[in-house]
Amino acid sequence: MAKTEIPTDIKEVSDLPGVGTQAAEKLNTAGYKTLESIAIASPAELMEAAGLGEITATKAIKAARDSLDMGFESADKLAEKRKLIGKITTGSKALDELIGGGVESQSITEVYGKFGSSKTQLCFETAVTVQLPVEKGGLNGNCLWIDSENSFRPERIIQVAEYLKLDSQKVLKNIFVARAYNADHQSILAEKASELVKEKNIKLVIVDSLTSQFRAEFIGRGTLSDRQQKLNKHLRVLAKLAEMSNVAVLVTNQVMDRPDILFGDPTAPIGGNIVGHAAKTRLYLRKSKESKRIAKLVDSPSLPDGECIYTITENGVEDAKDKE
Ligand code: ADP
Ligand code: MG
Repeated sequence: MAKTEIPTDIKEVSDLPGVGTQAAEKLNTAGYKTLESIAIASPAELMEAAGLGEITATKAIKAARDSLDMGFESADKLAEKRKLIGKITTGSKALDELIGGGVESQSITEVYGKFGSSKTQLCFETAVTVQLPVEKGGLNGNCLWIDSENSFRPERIIQVAEYLKLDSQKVLKNIFVARAYNADHQSILAEKASELVKEKNIKLVIVDSLTSQFRAEFIGRGTLSDRQQKLNKHLRVLAKLAEMSNVAVLVTNQVMDRPDILFGDPTAPIGGNIVGHAAKTRLYLRKSKESKRIAKLVDSPSLPDGECIYTITENGVEDAKDKE
């Protein structure tokens, strides 16, 4: 589409062609409050949410996308955008190096591993370090935390913050936590996040865990494709949020046993390819001796595969003292 055709007068949902105040109201109630949320919706979703006809829904989505300038972008523009990628330190230099400098904005980072492998600890650490100034490994921003396992612990935030000599009360105030009670609720929280991201200077969105609610709700093979579709949609929302708002999205994922693998590691992350495609950086975490943990970088598009060792202490995530 030529630049001149891009409607510039579209600022909010009610400005979209064919969407009157009444339909905008309905969309709003259904969680479609921003142009971003319309741009990534499917026509069927809008038809259901606001009773729009198919043609109107398709037009509205296209107009929302055009107004946000989505679609093809020239490579120089992309390079320009990539320059804005921020990196959040994990607390361990070795781990930062493994993932190219820290947890990146503009994309999804997935950490997966067994219970106790330190997925949530990495979330605690980055929820604090994102608040640091850029020269100290932060993004001078705040954290939004979607908690689906009831594992958020303010005490751990305080410990990490105090170790970094930060005002722990201030650090806690800058972390906005929402409990996700089921898969749909979790998806809605992610859709709502784009508003809060702007309002609260959010630079890191955590979903701990991405898959547990989906896994709990869709048991058995019959519903697997339903689950995958819902999960896919949820991930699309998160990926767009990362890209369009220049925030880092960090998700945790459990592993399941794969009886079909006879040699090598018999575990695999939940959600399979769907999560694999959506997450740009995937880290497989496992326990080592005592407080040590091993992180393995999996399938990065721009970094070599590799492993590193770090440690979990009262202070949070740190480099392991001896490397063995
Ligand atoms: P998961 O991968 O299941 O999310 P966690 O991130 O919750 O696992 O990691 C739990 C582990 O973190 C514990 O087994 C313990 O080794 C370590 N840990 C948690 N809190 C502390 C603490 N205050 N001091 C030292 N280690 C801790
Ligand atoms: Mg956990």
